[in-house]
Amino acid sequence: MIARPNDPRPLPSETSLRVIMRGLREIMSEGGEGQDKLDRIVRQIAGVMVADVCSIYLKRQDGSLELFATEGLNPSAVHKTRMKRGEGLVGRCSELGVTVNEPEASSHPAFSYRPETSEEIYHSLLAVPISRSGQVLGVLVIQNRMSKEYSDEDVEVLQATAMVVAENLVSGAVAGTGAALEGSLSQPMAIEGEPLSEGIALGHVVLHEPRIVVTHLLSDNPVAEMDRLDTALTKLQANIDEMFEHEHLSAVGEHRDVLEAYRMFAHDKGWHRRLREAVEGGLTAEAAVERVQNAMRTRMLKQHDTYWKERQRDLDDLSDRLLRVLAGRLKSSEDGSGLPSEVILVARTMGPAELLDYDRSRLRGLIVEDGSSQSHVAVVAKALGIAAIGQAAGIVDRVVAGDAAIIDAVAGEVHLRPTNEVIAAYSDKVRFRARKQKRYQSLRGRPAVTKDGIRISLLMNAGLLVDMSHLTESGADGVGLYRTELQFMLSDSFPRLDRQTQLYRSVIEEAQGKTVVFRSLDIGGDKVLPYLRQPKEENPALGWRAIRMSLDRPELFRLQIRALLKAAAGRELRVMIPMVSASYELGAIRALIEKEKTFLTTHGHQLPSNILVGAMFEVPALLFDLDAFLSRVDFVSIGSNDLMQFMFAADRTNARVASRFDVLTAAPLRALRMLIKAAKKHKVPLTLCGEMAGSPLEAMSLIALGLRSLSMAPASIGPIKTMILSLDAEKATAYVEELLKGDAKDIRMSLQQFAENEGVAIDG
Ligand code: PEP
Ligand code: MG
Repeated sequence: MIARPNDPRPLPSETSLRVIMRGLREIMSEGGEGQDKLDRIVRQIAGVMVADVCSIYLKRQDGSLELFATEGLNPSAVHKTRMKRGEGLVGRCSELGVTVNEPEASSHPAFSYRPETSEEIYHSLLAVPISRSGQVLGVLVIQNRMSKEYSDEDVEVLQATAMVVAENLVSGAVAGTGAALEGSLSQPMAIEGEPLSEGIALGHVVLHEPRIVVTHLLSDNPVAEMDRLDTALTKLQANIDEMFEHEHLSAVGEHRDVLEAYRMFAHDKGWHRRLREAVEGGLTAEAAVERVQNAMRTRMLKQHDTYWKERQRDLDDLSDRLLRVLAGRLKSSEDGSGLPSEVILVARTMGPAELLDYDRSRLRGLIVEDGSSQSHVAVVAKALGIAAIGQAAGIVDRVVAGDAAIIDAVAGEVHLRPTNEVIAAYSDKVRFRARKQKRYQSLRGRPAVTKDGIRISLLMNAGLLVDMSHLTESGADGVGLYRTELQFMLSDSFPRLDRQTQLYRSVIEEAQGKTVVFRSLDIGGDKVLPYLRQPKEENPALGWRAIRMSLDRPELFRLQIRALLKAAAGRELRVMIPMVSASYELGAIRALIEKEKTFLTTHGHQLPSNILVGAMFEVPALLFDLDAFLSRVDFVSIGSNDLMQFMFAADRTNARVASRFDVLTAAPLRALRMLIKAAKKHKVPLTLCGEMAGSPLEAMSLIALGLRSLSMAPASIGPIKTMILSLDAEKATAYVEELLKGDAKDIRMSLQQFAENEGVAIDG
């Protein structure tokens, strides 16, 4: 008997668990057919857990569940009873991947009665998903005549048992169940998502936070296993203590509290005890980590406040870290070594800075479970020229590292473990796109002029020095938006004056005389600098960001302006201020710029030959103060990503709402028309540099509204120029004017119809 450090008495659950584990091990090691094994498993579980019924349902490829084995239900229902995807409590358990614990199952609204099973006499039901690497393979159910809520211990025992069943199903130890497991991790699979950055990419999966897949669940030598666990726990604590003392983190601040709570969790005696008990129950250290994580998660999920959500995140993070320690892989793959040459990065969620951590030369594509086309990670993906898909539900649980994957960020699809035919088809597509790109390249030297002779200025968005090579490749007229913050996000610390000056100088030089609009730091919202202390905010997009930070922390802004003034010495400098909300803010900004000019002149530096100060138009309030605003700026660029999120009150980073409202509807189009007219009246040059500019139909509508300058990702220049060359702008203007009169319904559809009838190339 192994000594228990905190509690000498075995818990009842541990006793049942141990008995079940022993029984399962015996069943698995003996010969026999798969069906026979499943029958014995359910009998065994029902016996130990004193359940009147124990059943195993397995998932079929179409997502339906089939009754594969039962003890207690009518045996003739086996292989006959099928539940549609999500049907009944069992379907719900499988679809949501959650435990269902119902004292009165038959009166639950989701209950689905199947007469062939004769299950109406059973009141209570406990169903747990049989899952492997997060993918649900089936459901393990127990039922009792008596109405009762199953205890937490019952839930834990059944969950642990389901884990072992899953392992044996996948490993083939239960032969004959293959038909039901067609959707397992070795099969091809297509998942839909939303294109975040257009393109097609073929490569191999790298999991952003690689989850260690636990393969060995039952231990033969609990004493040795206990040793492994103890050693790993000690290592884990040391690693966290070391992290805590790291110089970047040692400063006082909110992150210290967060880390302290995290560290306390790592030292938590209760957690250690549960892990040890699980090992004593016959599990390997890895399986113990997973099991305790699942059990504690089930409990925490019952709590709804954010404190518990955060604790759950800590637990998940710690459990993953402990698994990495046990596997001898504490370092994650982000250090670049060992990455395949063509990386398809898969993550639940990813911030823009995290994406920049990866070796760009190997990165082909990104798939995330959240994200929207206007989120900053999408912006960075576009800047990097990699294909990206968002809202790919459940992707992380459906892949293993190294899987072949294809991203089709045109159609919005991901193909996992594709067949040779699919690979061949996509290789063709890639070749076709390359040919198309060549065609666009042949348009490079040709100005973007509409059929009726209107010249449209096509500019590109950039954010890194390497992007500047796209200027010649795409044939853009200049850089309409240089997002300076991207370079800041790449750095470990705030870039000093010299480094900034050097960078901006290189950008200007690379532009070879073409205009560059430098946007001052747009930090805040979802763009975070790890080394800059930012207060935690309830609504960061509406919070302390961009110009607000520049005005409150003028030293950061002045440093950047100084670097820009120095870099553009003797040449023209265009600076653009993001997130201006009120006209008077521009006065304060200009005063800070004047201060820097005076400083540099008194120190004998040459100033730029001309300094233009512009503003982003991102805050709807300015629509109602256009005269004052426009009289204070030298140029304006519409940040439609932010403008639309504020106009519709729909968070651009929240996948649920980001694409809920269409920009090609009356309200935004009328607002844009108002601004375009006012800018014309004030003779203020106006551009649009949000994502709208890069979509042909949207760009056509903007030109119809009177806009004559667009700034977009370099890859969009070709398609947009093609559209412009085929457009009669005056005709489009007349059409849109007519559309915006009165009720103005179905605008997008009408515009599409117009493009089709007029032969406007909007297909990219
Ligand atoms: C915008 O808001 O449209 C914009 C171009 O700025 P960013 O996407 O960087 O916020
Ligand atoms: Mg913006």
